[in-house]
Amino acid sequence: MNDQPTILAIDQGTTSTRTILFSAELKILAVQQKELKLHYPRKGWVEQNPETIWQDTLEVCRAILERTAGRRAEAVTAIGITNQRETTILWDRKTGKPVYPAIVWQDRRTGTVCERLRAQGFEPMVTARTGLLFDPYFSATKIAWILDNVEGVRARAVRGELAFGTIDCYLLWHLTGGRVHATDVTNAARTLLFNIVEQQWDADLLALFDIPAAILPEVRDNAAGFGVTDPALFGREIPVGGMAGDQHAALIGQRCFRPGMVKSTYGTGCFALMNIGPDFRLSQHRLLTTPAYRLNGRMVYAVEGSIFVAGAAIQWLRDGLEFFQDAAASEALARSVPDSNEVYFVPAFTGLGAPYWRPDVRGMISGLSRDTTRAHIIRAALEAQGYQTLDLMAAIEEDGGYQADVVRVDGGLVANGFMCQFLADMLNRPVEVPKVTEATALGAAILAGLAVGLFAGLEATERYWQRDIIYTPVMTEAERKRLYAGWKTAVQSLLHASGNAAAEPAVSDSRQ
Ligand code: ADP
Repeated sequence: MNDQPTILAIDQGTTSTRTILFSAELKILAVQQKELKLHYPRKGWVEQNPETIWQDTLEVCRAILERTAGRRAEAVTAIGITNQRETTILWDRKTGKPVYPAIVWQDRRTGTVCERLRAQGFEPMVTARTGLLFDPYFSATKIAWILDNVEGVRARAVRGELAFGTIDCYLLWHLTGGRVHATDVTNAARTLLFNIVEQQWDADLLALFDIPAAILPEVRDNAAGFGVTDPALFGREIPVGGMAGDQHAALIGQRCFRPGMVKSTYGTGCFALMNIGPDFRLSQHRLLTTPAYRLNGRMVYAVEGSIFVAGAAIQWLRDGLEFFQDAAASEALARSVPDSNEVYFVPAFTGLGAPYWRPDVRGMISGLSRDTTRAHIIRAALEAQGYQTLDLMAAIEEDGGYQADVVRVDGGLVANGFMCQFLADMLNRPVEVPKVTEATALGAAILAGLAVGLFAGLEATERYWQRDIIYTPVMTEAERKRLYAGWKTAVQSLLHASGNAAAEPAVSDSRQ
């Protein structure tokens, strides 16, 4: 028997639902995971079944509690939730039944609505209040789509019979047996309806998107009382204390608590967030401004930038070109050659994000010669992560007004030591990989622990952050400049080859 307090983190992602049980020292005790399907009913549409999401969540929670029964369920002190952001669900407040499938963040069906609103000149006002841009990615146009396209839904919404929520909010509602309809600032901030300066739902934005306020959840701090679980679920009431969208949770999991600290997550795509402190500031490079977290009513902001394709480039080399069978093999192959032999790989499969903002361009491999081998191309694909991050970092640092001393990284790709070393060389600063790379779930656990008093404050959790590896720059300045100049030339030739179509805002299409 072990009665040490534990924290259960629920990490509901786009392709899987996981729970991780953490000790009070934030060590991983157990992990339970279930894959989740995406549905593509039409071109550009991406949906998921909300009931499956809830049932999977319940299943993985129950399974982990059973597996760790030696640690009594009583030991679970709190639950924290982190989630894929923006994904939109409307459900009946009485029955809990969704009125339509979840419209996933990747769904592009509301693209023309966003274009129209932009053409009408609303974007500066919306950006000033939300830190976001017009893009189908965010929840508002998805909510409006359901209200306008599912019969009877708008009338029911206006009568107060329906509830809206992103995944966090929908799971909380079910976990509390329908008693709590609440979300947190980081998730609310991704709807395009929440004013992150005034920190409340914005009546003008609700009017702009024609969304009735009656469907909205209450917005709370990231560590707060979110109610207790329905005893019918786990045999007892467990407090839900923490909640944050996945990228924000990762920032917390990486303990980026001081302004200027940066975390960068390399999964399918790459998401970098810099803590910029308590003052809201708009980006000059069309990056997003977003809450990092709010605790005890005090907001801390972050600048967020995304690279559309990170690990997806490695997946493409594996599945599209069949260069190797396992992503891990890319490291030895990249190291088998002394350099990329002047090959540059710009993985713009879905366009280029910050600071280029060219959704119209597509990928390119340049510098091919008769002696180019697949190892050179693989190496170029990994090096591209370093170049892309340097491009993004320059924008983030200018917007944030800080220089990052170190960059803390996580995500599947950081298993690749070659990539991490090249990243440190390009950024010309240390890159730190933590012992616990499950930064997202860790962030949710920290928030939940804070809410129930397991930790005295955020700083009290810093001592549990342990570095696994630090990559320090070893490349000479001349070499770094030469390589980066080659990347810039490659990108410029791609931009020119694709014409000078006006840049339009784009937000990542590949991640989580
Ligand atoms: P996501 O959460 O977006 O699904 P993960 O954080 O699980 O992504 O990371 C998976 C990505 O990391 C995949 O795109 C995979 O190709 C890449 N990846 C995993 N291991 C390695 C490795 N050793 N070298 C290079 N890429 C890797």
